[in-house]
Amino acid sequence: MIKKIDHIAIAVKNLAEEITRYRDVLGLEYLGSETVASQKVNVAFFRINNVFIELLEPTGTDSPISSFIEKKGGGLHHLALEVDDIQAEIKRLQGKNVQLLDREPRNGAHHAQIAFVHPKSFSGVLFELKQQGDES
Ligand code: ZN
Repeated sequence: MIKKIDHIAIAVKNLAEEITRYRDVLGLEYLGSETVASQKVNVAFFRINNVFIELLEPTGTDSPISSFIEKKGGGLHHLALEVDDIQAEIKRLQGKNVQLLDREPRNGAHHAQIAFVHPKSFSGVLFELKQQGDES
């Protein structure tokens, strides 16, 4: 079951500069940053009530975010939907002929399990399914 929008992810070229803008210009609550090696990104987290904004900076030219920035110059990258059971959700969507980029969940930030849905299935919108990890 899909529970809520967990986060909105935005691709940026320079994370340090954007952290300053989101924190000091927009005035959002900055929660910290983390490197997610499996996705080759540095991520900064902001919170607006119970929805998060994640800024994604590529860690190198082999990062998927790097090619996205080259093509589009950065901007909205994906929407993450929190699910209660990611394995069940992957199976459910496959049963409805939705294409997935990940057939098996993989590790995201904060020990979450994540899987991406192919943007072809939803008019170019990249959805991430996310099952929360252990908060500790
Ligand atoms: Zn995400």
